[in-house]
Amino acid sequence: MSKKRLNTPMGLYIHIPFCLKKCPYCAFNSYAGSEVSERYISALEKEMEWLSSLFGLESCAVDSIYLGGGTPSMLSASDLGRLLSTAASMFKLDKDAEVTIEVNPATVNSEKLKGFREAGINRISIGVQSLNDNKLNLLGRLHSASEAIESFRLARNCGYKNISVDLMTGLPGETLRELKNDLKELEQLSPDHISLYLLNIEKGTDFFDKQEKGELAPPNEDIQRDFFLRASQILQEDGYFRYETSNYARPGFESRHNLKYWTGADYLGLGAGAHSYLAETGWGMRWWNCLLPSSYCDALEAGRLPLEGCEILSREEALSEAVLTSLRTRGGLEEISLEKRFGESAFKTLITRAKELVPKDLILLEAGKIALTDRGALMADEIAMTITR
Ligand code: SF4
Repeated sequence: MSKKRLNTPMGLYIHIPFCLKKCPYCAFNSYAGSEVSERYISALEKEMEWLSSLFGLESCAVDSIYLGGGTPSMLSASDLGRLLSTAASMFKLDKDAEVTIEVNPATVNSEKLKGFREAGINRISIGVQSLNDNKLNLLGRLHSASEAIESFRLARNCGYKNISVDLMTGLPGETLRELKNDLKELEQLSPDHISLYLLNIEKGTDFFDKQEKGELAPPNEDIQRDFFLRASQILQEDGYFRYETSNYARPGFESRHNLKYWTGADYLGLGAGAHSYLAETGWGMRWWNCLLPSSYCDALEAGRLPLEGCEILSREEALSEAVLTSLRTRGGLEEISLEKRFGESAFKTLITRAKELVPKDLILLEAGKIALTDRGALMADEIAMTITR
């Protein structure tokens, strides 16, 4: 494999698929009941080493590392430091790289947060979900509202200047007053970045089973849409900029790592179930790892990559993906960058179809650009399919 010369710095995603307890709504690749083992850490190191040498990425700049899960805050500070040092030795880690870890409030204290900072973390993303104990109970979270607030304050006191929180709305029975209270409490904390999600009940979760048995009311889609738009409006009035469908930031605090997914940049996903994407191979190549942590470790220990699947994108697939991912960003789909990659007629074809959605308040058309309104952001996938069909 020849040495790669990426035009823009790459991102690294490291998946830690372990949790203290499985939340009943969670469809992520995560498993309750085991610690982050030495075996798993070693497998991650092996995978980093292997991918770096396979694609000749040793001199490729990496300007973001994101530890997601699962619950990566179950890592000890020393194991986290070990992973970050290995990454720095396998790639050219930018000295100003954004290095994020997702934190579950039930797993951290001041000492741990300090240790993470000393290990190289400069951004934390706290899975708050709500600041209402009833909502947290319904979601089966292991922490209370006051523990979530406490972990936020501890993180600020430890010197973290870039803190994101996750907030979930659209729960069965949730009232608008509860949502507004959540937002008011958040405003007091003043996080730098907020990810706003609607509860989505997916197959394979406890919530899905309960819903099937009639024990849990399905979320009402009209109410969810209304709540999302209200929350979006309040956040924007509070000075947060919606730079991606579900993500809001104070100016300058957009997540560099998240933006890689939406702007077609290269990223390597390490760990069980992680996905990777390299744009430079034809129209792009993606691959993904096997889901089970034990199979992931088995493969690397046996000298194999832990691959579950791989695809080389065709021009049409790459175009659909570029449309979908760009539309998710506030910057939208830009004529110049689209035509540079896909040829002169690509944008003109899309804009004819996009014009039909303007009267429905789903799309904003500006010179050389197609973007989604707040209402359109709720239907990003459908709109992308409509204009690329
Ligand atoms: S803590 Fe996060 S990853 Fe783990 S089960 Fe709950 S929602 Fe899923």
